[in-house]
Amino acid sequence: MKAVRLYEGPEVRVEDVLEPEVGPGQIRVAVEAAGLCGTDLHAARGHLPVPGLPVIMGHEGAGIVEAVGAGVSEFGAGDRVLILPSETCGNCPACQDGHLGLCPAARIFGMARDGTFAEKIAVPASCALPLPDGIAFEHGAILADAVATAYHAVATRAGITGGERIAVLGCGGVGHHAILLARLLGAKTIVAADASPGSLRRAEEAGADATVDVSSGNARKAIREAAGGGGPDLVIEYVGKKASVELAMASVARGGRVIVGGVGMESPALGPLVSFVGREIGVLGSMGYTRAELDRVVELTATGRLDLSGSITARYPLDRAAEALDDLENRRNDPVRLALLPGASS
Ligand SMILES: [Zn+2]
Ligand SMILES: [Zn+2]
Repeated sequence: MKAVRLYEGPEVRVEDVLEPEVGPGQIRVAVEAAGLCGTDLHAARGHLPVPGLPVIMGHEGAGIVEAVGAGVSEFGAGDRVLILPSETCGNCPACQDGHLGLCPAARIFGMARDGTFAEKIAVPASCALPLPDGIAFEHGAILADAVATAYHAVATRAGITGGERIAVLGCGGVGHHAILLARLLGAKTIVAADASPGSLRRAEEAGADATVDVSSGNARKAIREAAGGGGPDLVIEYVGKKASVELAMASVARGGRVIVGGVGMESPALGPLVSFVGREIGVLGSMGYTRAELDRVVELTATGRLDLSGSITARYPLDRAAEALDDLENRRNDPVRLALLPGASS
């Protein structure tokens, strides 16, 4: 079968490999669509250490079950499924709570083991979820990463219940879905802030009321004015840089909260305590999501309340994976999420 493999170098190669065996407790899935995440790009460029190369890339995927291993009763051949981004231990406190993103033993597909950028993948049955007929494979592929991660930040960590003024800093893949979900959950005002005019245009399409180009002028002032009142009650950060987290903390209203979902190696400063404490700012990290939250976004999508029609902005056959990575890196055509379609001919 055809697969996209990452080698030392780093180097990305599309090559023919053996189909994966389906072991006990596993299912083999014919991948219909795979999402291309920023993490894949970091891995492909050598910015993230990937142990055990070469490895088939990709941790977002959906497809059709074509074989089940011994002991698997919950799936059968022909079932539509979405695949979770990692294999978790099932035993730690986070797993027992259903919080898949916090398992310290999680092994992410496409890095710790072979992933979804292939015609077929074998995964433990516990790493798959039924995909309702009404949800396209390319949307199923991103629900368990770009969408559920945004839902956890907006619904649970930010606790949006309706009526809030919010700002989203960084409106690419996850930030775009944070805007869609904040609108759905009843935010009063949504300000989208990004340095890319294309991302801001797509943010407006997703439901943002106002946009702020953070690359020009006084971004803090612009965000606070656009949000109205004393500034946004909530700022959700998806850039993962020191300057961006500090901008979020400076922009939020007195008594407001900053949810940081952007991951990186930089260290933002809290600032003088007289300001941090005096303005009573809350700063919370947000990582992954729970199984119940994933079920919720599947349901919201299946019932049409969550409209992902603007989420996949370009599609590529596996042969053109290197081009897709390049397009994502250069933000060509203002990507939200790019999809690889292993079933498509090149
Ligand atoms: Zn991802
Ligand atoms: Zn665990």
